[in-house]
Amino acid sequence: MTLKGKSALITGAGSGIGKSIAQAFAGSGVQVAITDVNLQAAQAVAQQINSCGGVASSMQMDVTDEDQVNTAVERTAREFGALDVLVSNAGIQIIHPIVDFSLSEWRKVVAVHLDGAFLTTRAAMRSMIPCGRGGTILYLGSIHSHIASPNKSAYVAAKHGIIGFAKAVAKEGAKYGIRSNVICPGFVLTPLVEKQIPEQAQQFGITEEDVVKKIMLRETVDGEFTSLEDVASTAIFLASFPSNALTGQSIVVSHGHFMH
Ligand code: NAD
Repeated sequence: MTLKGKSALITGAGSGIGKSIAQAFAGSGVQVAITDVNLQAAQAVAQQINSCGGVASSMQMDVTDEDQVNTAVERTAREFGALDVLVSNAGIQIIHPIVDFSLSEWRKVVAVHLDGAFLTTRAAMRSMIPCGRGGTILYLGSIHSHIASPNKSAYVAAKHGIIGFAKAVAKEGAKYGIRSNVICPGFVLTPLVEKQIPEQAQQFGITEEDVVKKIMLRETVDGEFTSLEDVASTAIFLASFPSNALTGQSIVVSHGHFMH
């Protein structure tokens, strides 16, 4: 399946991985809706894509807000003719030992990842099914969809949950030609990870260099961060895969940090 002329909505696309997937999609001829809770960031990404000859719109959308999600998905389908691809990417990280985790912070992490995946998927499927041309839904999982790390209980629980949800979407979506897969990156140097380096140095009483070498990249085969390009190429591969042979899967892109 060629991606040229297709349309995609990407959540959390104002920064990091979402931004990089949006740019890669636009470079493959996909019309992209750049959505983010941070409108300015979304606008800047859309502007950059449009100035390079791509087609992008921008919208403020908090993935935990049912009305904003429904409105953004409907608007995207109307403006671009249909919605072919959803990338459920928006995410946050909050780090505490379980005994210090407040219920409100736990709920915040779980809401952005799981409520966000559910609300955006429901809206996308409601748009894709009547169109009758199928679709692809991609989720950003993590190596933490498969393994755990100390102090990341809410994130680990939510990211494991994404895999279960994606399998349910694969089961229900198949008869409509809707596929769902999860991309599970290792550590990628984005603002989400840059913030964790000093936080973990303080929590574990070690240097920032040791956080990177001895915690984040210790289990990789080559001591390398996963790059934005590694993740974007995987998204292009999965979005353009032509059949239901590849659905309900999690693809780990982590320099060997986690191996199935
Ligand atoms: P990032 O912080 O660079 O970008 C996340 C974006 O999501 C931001 O633009 C932010 O404004 C937006 N966002 C946050 N809450 C939102 C909400 N409620 N509604 C809409 N947008 C919201 O982070 P990133 O590293 O690019 O992470 C993107 C995804 O990739 C996340 O799901 C993250 O868990 C996952 N991931 C990241 C890494 C990594 O190492 N960076 C590794 C594995 C998985």
